[in-house]
Amino acid sequence: MTTLVAAGATDVGKVRSGNEDELLIAEPLYAVADGMGGHAAGEVASAAAMEALLVAFDGNPSGAGLVDAVRDANRAVWEQSRERSELRGMGTTMTAVALIDEGDEEVLAIAHVGDSRAYLLRDGELTQVTEDHSVPEELRRAGRLSPEEAAADPRKHVLTRVLGVDSEVEVDTAQLVPYRGDRLLLASDGLFGELSDDEIASILRRRSEPERVAQQLVTMAKDAGGADNITVVVIDVTDDDDRAAKASAKVGSQPVTAMPRPVFASPALDADPPTERIPRAVLTEDRPSPPPPPTPPTRATKEAPKKTRRPNLATVAFLAVLILILGLAATAILVAARGSYYVGVDGDDVAIFKGRPGGLLGFEPTLEERTGVRVADVLPSRLEDLRKGKQEPSMAAARSYVREIAEEGAKALMATTTSTIPPPASVAPPSAPLR
Ligand code: MG
Repeated sequence: MTTLVAAGATDVGKVRSGNEDELLIAEPLYAVADGMGGHAAGEVASAAAMEALLVAFDGNPSGAGLVDAVRDANRAVWEQSRERSELRGMGTTMTAVALIDEGDEEVLAIAHVGDSRAYLLRDGELTQVTEDHSVPEELRRAGRLSPEEAAADPRKHVLTRVLGVDSEVEVDTAQLVPYRGDRLLLASDGLFGELSDDEIASILRRRSEPERVAQQLVTMAKDAGGADNITVVVIDVTDDDDRAAKASAKVGSQPVTAMPRPVFASPALDADPPTERIPRAVLTEDRPSPPPPPTPPTRATKEAPKKTRRPNLATVAFLAVLILILGLAATAILVAARGSYYVGVDGDDVAIFKGRPGGLLGFEPTLEERTGVRVADVLPSRLEDLRKGKQEPSMAAARSYVREIAEEGAKALMATTTSTIPPPASVAPPSAPLR
């Protein structure tokens, strides 16, 4: 009897205002989903997908049942997206694993769509089991980008396959034979966007309980930047019915390989993807030098008495308090008027302004940065915020918001484009057990 022990952790991160990720731990089914399409819509997409997955898999807990359950999840998101205009364009990734009984043995079935990932740590070696369905990764697999170019490509958040944008979806599958000591990791891109595979592996190698490891992974990713929602599920194989001992004589320690997939040569990738409009400048994390601090009011209080002629003590005290109050008020107004940023509209473009939308007490906002993102490329649900001016506490936060709306607009466009492309001529069957 194979026994699994699992735990998960999720965190909104340091930049996003809401958590659009979902995780599921419902033995023997485990999954992560990363929603997109704007704050509320993203949360709806990942939650609806997870609910549909669980219900469908319960009805048919098998390898085929898992794939059907992911397809059900796709339809659930797609139908909600069609029924409610404010949710149009929403979608979600899905990476699910389930322990299933194949008759003669138990295996871990994996089903996957999008750019969340499944990793396997076996004998101390970390292997990425799933392949990302993103523009640069598809190009890398087609031999058109080097691994280094793909890793640095600004389109890595633009997905070529997600749940919820069409009535049908192609689902990647794989099977693993579980061995005692194996540790599986399911993760949203908020984890591996911040941490290298080596950093992830070093945490997974610790002999801690899954719950502690999951927390450590999330904490490390948050400390490293936390630019996105971070979600992980850690699954330990604690018993395998002595499968390792029985199999080792004839199998040995065959290395695990990632599941083979056909090269995805989408015609859409031959043309410039719409994401080209996301300028590199928007994606950089350069932080502007902070504005000079306002004059501390305490300085005024010290100098004030010198400006009065032959002052008596009561006058000095009164003036000091008055100047202190005026200084504080001026500082507060200055901070309120000029200490914040907002994302707004400049002609046809999305731009970042310094100050308050519409100005405050004579302090007019100033254009700080043209982002290169066009208003026409932003989801309709974001337009009202943009026209009013979406206030952010810092330049970095404003850039992050621009990046978020640019990505979701591009994702929606790319997903719509991809959904019109016929699937590859031949679809590989689920790969054979890896050992
Ligand atoms: Mg994400």
